Amino acid sequence: MELTFENWRPPATGHLIGGQWVDSGDTFETRSPLDWDRGPLALVSRGTSQTAADAVTAAEAGFETWGAMSPHERATVLRKLADLIEKHTDAIAEAECLDMGFLLQSMRERLVARGATNFRLYADLIDDHVDKTWPAKKMANTVQRMPAGPAVVITPWNAPFMLSTWKLAPALAAGNSVIHKPAEWSPLSAAILAELTQEAGFPAGSYNLVQGIGEEVGAALVADPRVRRITFTGSPETARHIGRAAAENIVPFTAELGGKGPLMVFDDADLDAAAHRAAWQFDDSGQVCLAGTRLLVAESLRDAFLERFHHHADQLIMGDSRDPQTDIAPMVHPEHRDRVHGFVERARASGDHVVRGGQPMPGSLHYEPTLIEPASNNSEVVQHEIFGPVLTFQTFTDEAEAIAMANSTAYGLSAQIWTTSRQRAERVGRAVRAGLVWVNTFLVRDLTAPFGGCGISGIGREGGDYALDFHSDLKTLMILDETTG
Ligand code: NAD
Repeated sequence: MELTFENWRPPATGHLIGGQWVDSGDTFETRSPLDWDRGPLALVSRGTSQTAADAVTAAEAGFETWGAMSPHERATVLRKLADLIEKHTDAIAEAECLDMGFLLQSMRERLVARGATNFRLYADLIDDHVDKTWPAKKMANTVQRMPAGPAVVITPWNAPFMLSTWKLAPALAAGNSVIHKPAEWSPLSAAILAELTQEAGFPAGSYNLVQGIGEEVGAALVADPRVRRITFTGSPETARHIGRAAAENIVPFTAELGGKGPLMVFDDADLDAAAHRAAWQFDDSGQVCLAGTRLLVAESLRDAFLERFHHHADQLIMGDSRDPQTDIAPMVHPEHRDRVHGFVERARASGDHVVRGGQPMPGSLHYEPTLIEPASNNSEVVQHEIFGPVLTFQTFTDEAEAIAMANSTAYGLSAQIWTTSRQRAERVGRAVRAGLVWVNTFLVRDLTAPFGGCGISGIGREGGDYALDFHSDLKTLMILDETTG
């Protein structure tokens, strides 16, 4: 059936605490970027400091059961959840599309399945894990992973379902109970996930969902001294607040933050492939932390690159996120669209050249795919994450200058290198300061590889065993053994 506002019903709008759905009196509204003026899509419970305290109490109790289960028992529940996610693909995709504006087809075909994969991967990793044991002089040494306790998982509004599963799966696999606090601009797919955990058989209190405003219930959760891990994806500004709370309680904290990735095109690159990929950085209206938003192009390619870039950008269709023909969805919220436009207006006023786009679209939350040639590398649009469909274009004369430009912001999440030279790929790949570097490709990653950023793009690494180690207290067990050494 076609997805309409009339035939869609929201999931649970309360908090899941200790296996029960509860409300906290007050609510906040979530609206659809597809039809903002329609009014609230749902009224969602607005958690308070009491909600946060109740959730941590429930998570402490849940940890007693979940943390004591064997890895194989936990893996069985995680796999059941993965199966249920796949079974409910349409419901998840539709909620994400209406709530956040995500393209319905991408959700159905890729991102929901990726959410299920995240749980299966961590089920496999804990099932296959063996403690590392080695003999030393009269000693048997073993390194064990101990579950750490309740973990708070705080997620952003962009790609909310996929990002949440990616953070929740390792926390749960490690044996921690979780309290998930999704973003207030896109809270609904997290509610479906919480509903599915009940069907999957998570013990009461092992999986808790708290809805609400970051500065209210989010701040209360991260300040609770009973919490033993905090894992956050969002902006550097919020990370500073959470980091202070984590420091107060001496709690390990990971932060996946913003990016300002360079997309470097060398004179030996496959020009059309590079220009095509550059235009596709407008995907998801540029609301992608990993996006290569700074186009750094060899001076000799300047005109040819721009010609190909405009050609590909002209093909992108802005439209309704439910329409399979649409490439570019509306932005998540008018406040965010206006924030993005503010960057462009300030750029214009300070002498940067807006090469294409640069205006909000009338009658919708779309923003024109925008390219800016900055007056200087110090321009605000070069140095700050915009998180919208706004790219900058700069040229370099040699490899050393390209590397210096790539490394010239405070961020260090991702980089793209377009070259046909393997030697250059290795050389520049090593020299670029970023947690993730793609050469002649983008976004693909083996999920067991580490993921994270340098500089103000983050602290710590997610992915594979890296996330399991973060969520565990590592213990070294030393047993006197006269038979060794
Ligand atoms: P945000 O920092 O405003 O909010 C993220 C989450 O933190 C939300 O759930 C919010 O409610 C909560 N929060 C806000 N204040 C809080 C506080 N004081 N205490 C506890 N929680 C609080 O970020 P956003 O606008 O939702 O997301 C966009 C940002 O996320 C961008 O910077 C983007 O680059 C980044 N991001 C990074 C990655 C990555 O993997 N590196 C992935 C996606 C998004």
